[in-house]
Formats: sequence, C-alpha cells, structure tokens
Amino acid sequence: MTQPAPRIPKQEQLPASDDILEIAPGVLRAQLPISIPGLGHVNMYVLEDERGVTLVDPGLPEKASYAVVKKRLVQMGVPLKRVHSVIVTHSHPDHFGGAHWLQSETGCDIITHEKFRVFWDPTEPPDVDIDDPDNAPKHRMPWEPPPWGGPGMDIPFKRRARIAVTRRIPKLMRLPRPTIRLADAEHFRFARRDWVAVHTPGHTADHLCLFDAEHGLMICGDHVLPTITPHISGMMPAKDPLNLFFESLDKVAAFGPQVKIALPAHGDIFTDLAGRANDIKEHHVGRLQRLRDACIDIDRPTTVMEMSTYLFSPRSQGGMADSETYAHLEHLRLAGEMDRHDIDGRYQYTLKS
Ligand SMILES: [Zn+2]
Repeated sequence: MTQPAPRIPKQEQLPASDDILEIAPGVLRAQLPISIPGLGHVNMYVLEDERGVTLVDPGLPEKASYAVVKKRLVQMGVPLKRVHSVIVTHSHPDHFGGAHWLQSETGCDIITHEKFRVFWDPTEPPDVDIDDPDNAPKHRMPWEPPPWGGPGMDIPFKRRARIAVTRRIPKLMRLPRPTIRLADAEHFRFARRDWVAVHTPGHTADHLCLFDAEHGLMICGDHVLPTITPHISGMMPAKDPLNLFFESLDKVAAFGPQVKIALPAHGDIFTDLAGRANDIKEHHVGRLQRLRDACIDIDRPTTVMEMSTYLFSPRSQGGMADSETYAHLEHLRLAGEMDRHDIDGRYQYTLKS
C-alpha cells in the first residue's frame, strides 16, 4: 500500500527562526513562536530611528512569548528601554500580545487603527458602527452559538475560563491600551520614514496596513499573506465582511508597483503585493462559485455547516470554517443570488431561481 505523500508545510506554518534578517536599511525581521493552528510563527519587525525602535506585532500574550521578544532584542543589541513605540496591525492575540508588557516596562506608545478593539474586552464599546449595527454580534463569545445556529467554536475550557475571569476583572486582561489611534489615510512618522495608514477591514474590522511611499515598504499584517489566505470571519460586526475584504484587497492592489517590499505578519517578505492580493481575491471568487454549484447539486435548503463541507477539507472543519462559509453565503445573499430561511433555529440557504 502506498503512503500518502507528506504535506509540505507552507512558509507561514514553519517554526520560528532564530535568525534576524535586515529587510531594508534600519528594518529588521525577527520571528516569535506561536501555537495557533495553521501558523508556526509571527514576524516581529523592528524599525530603528534616532529615538530608539518601533516594534510591529510583538507576539502572543504569554510570558514565554514575551521572553522571546526580549531575547530577540538582545540578539539585535537593542536595550529594552530603547523601545518607544509598538504598532499592532490588528486585534488578534498573536499580534497584540507583548504590547501591554512593553508599555508597562518602557512607557512606549501603542499605535493601532482607530477601530482597534479586542472582541472580549468589556471596557470598550462593541464596534457596531461599521456598516450595519443591527446585524452586529454584540460581545458574542466565539464558543457561544453563532447567528447561523451551529455549534460554537471548540475553545479549550482553560482559555474560556481565563477570558471569562478577565472579562469580570478588566485589570487582569493585559490588553493593550492604544495611545495613538490612526484614521485611514493619516500620515505618521517613525523609523525616519513617513508612513500612511491604510485601513484594510476584512480579516478583522480594525486591520491596519502602513505604507512608506519613499522606500516602497508596505507593512501588511495578516491582510495579505504570501502563500495562505487569511481567515474571513462571518462573526465580524459588519453586514458583508467578505465584501469589505474584497474592497481592502483592491485598496492595497491599487498601490501597484509603488510597493517594492510587502512585510507580512507570517511567512517571508514578497514583492508583488498587487498580484498576491488579486490571487487571494480570485481564490474567494472560486469559493463563491463552489457554493453556487453546491446549491444546485443539493437542491434543497442547506445549512452553513453542510455548505462548509464543500469549501473545507475534513481536517479543517469546525467553527472557524463555518464562520468563513457563513461570510461567503451572506455575500451571495446580499448580492441577491441566494435566499436565507430560518428553519428550526438554523439559517438555511437556497439559490434564487
Ligand atoms: Zn490575524
């Protein structure tokens, strides 16, 4: 019997490297280990200027991760007290984790998009103002039943308990408190460069890219990754998260050859940002077609969970897959291509005839 060929890991899935790379003059890349399905590391960029250094996306909110942040600074010969700013591209834990500790130890600024909000933070109002307050899941926790009526996400009890306790005692949360919140198109100077904020909602509502026009650098977080596609959540407080993501892909693609180096949060730097953004868009256009075809094949109202099996392999099934499938189905419904029926507490979809 022949063995199945071993899966070749994608570059975003490789374990964190100990190497420090110089991406551009005064711009270093270090990698931090993370333990998130499908990802092996997060890139922490370190940008130097006359005031000290700015860190981008300093890893998970875990002591072990923060110890590696400090170790990487030692490797670079940068004393901790030289950190004057931390940029957090979006409100996922593998990006904001070390920001709280860095701020308490150095008094550094924390810079985010103006909509930055961690979903379980009760001290911040829910970000319901994106485009459809009525549709916004207000402080819904990912393990709670989602709007489409399937099971909640499978999150280990220990992590749920930790979130539940810290929600009651916000001081324990170790969440970053941004000191500078950038609006779209706002200019900002650090690392001896002028940067423009590029709001790119889709992966999250608060996703921020930063573009340095003079040197052609785009810090692109999780918005555009070199070989995998970022998760698009149907739980985002917006009517049509996939449409927001498409618009944000077009937005960065419009920079065209002005972008010489894209700095993703996972995997290697790359050059053709517009090409990669278009490929990711095509990937989702293909998935929308797969859902239309599945509806024709099945020929009856179909749940999000069943539709999810047409988009995701068995090993990827679960709450995140359902959530992304829901985002695609809602995109087709809002485009007038599908009807949604609420049957026994579950959304079910049919193609309009
Ligand atoms: Zn993310």
